[in-house]
Amino acid sequence: MKRNILTKMVIVGGVTVLSSALLAGCGSKDNAVQGSGKSPIIVEGPMPIEAEKFAGKLKNVKEEKSGSFVFYVGTLNDYPVIVAKTGKGMENTAAATAVAIEKYHPAAIINQGTSGGHDPSLNVFDIVLGQRTTNLGSLKTETKLANEGMDPTLWKPMDLMASEGSAGEDPNAEKPRFYDGDKDLLEAALAVKDTYTKGKVVEGTIGSADVWNNEVDRINWFHTKYGTSVEEMEGASAAQIAKAYGVPFLGIRILSNNKTNGGKYDPSTAEANQEYVYEVLKKYIENHG
Ligand code: SAH
Repeated sequence: MKRNILTKMVIVGGVTVLSSALLAGCGSKDNAVQGSGKSPIIVEGPMPIEAEKFAGKLKNVKEEKSGSFVFYVGTLNDYPVIVAKTGKGMENTAAATAVAIEKYHPAAIINQGTSGGHDPSLNVFDIVLGQRTTNLGSLKTETKLANEGMDPTLWKPMDLMASEGSAGEDPNAEKPRFYDGDKDLLEAALAVKDTYTKGKVVEGTIGSADVWNNEVDRINWFHTKYGTSVEEMEGASAAQIAKAYGVPFLGIRILSNNKTNGGKYDPSTAEANQEYVYEVLKKYIENHG
């Protein structure tokens, strides 16, 4: 009972001192974070097929929950690694990322999973390293009166981070916001790209929104306006929160489908991506552990 109350306080308040006290109280010597003296790396996956394979590769795993978010706290080559099953979409991912940062104080965050191609030269099983990540759902429409209709081709990107004032009234906010992938994470990912044999690994732009686009003209519109390689529903929200806390971030997305070249949805891509991300993480730990 006492432990439950403490757990709740930790989750709501994110109080580190209490968190440490709680872990110590549990006597969990093998807890990856406690006692190792190293900040963990967090690997996020939205769906069970995008997180559980990776979690199965960790040692000394302890499952911890906050709300609907599941954290598999373990080790990889004796380094603390936490797999976060965030759930799908921008809200789940933003919240899970903030909770994970407050709770575990990570050294870096990788957001990974499946995606839909915006670039016709990319095929199902190809992997995009997010040199940049951007929010495709942040848009400002034209002004039109009743019965004048609606025209999504005229919508403008809207940068909610341009200022603290009204984005709707600010002409400087009429642009996409791009979050840069961390250069050390990118370096580790590029260093192991030859270990991946199911497709190519390229650097590119990951676009995110709680939207699944199946209209090829609209996909092409994003591809031209934002330079997107792929779309998914999480990366930009995790990138935004990671940036808010100054935590190095990289999105790594495999194409599970591509409407621009007829690439059919294949859920087994989720596992292939986790295998590649596992290699990336080992390399990053080797460089920074
Ligand atoms: N077809 C899947 C649905 C996945 S829902 C199924 O029926 O189980 C969307 C999830 O897949 C999100 O986590 C998102 O990041 C990812 N995704 C894959 N391809 C996508 C696409 N073309 N557009 C948007 N999200 C996509």
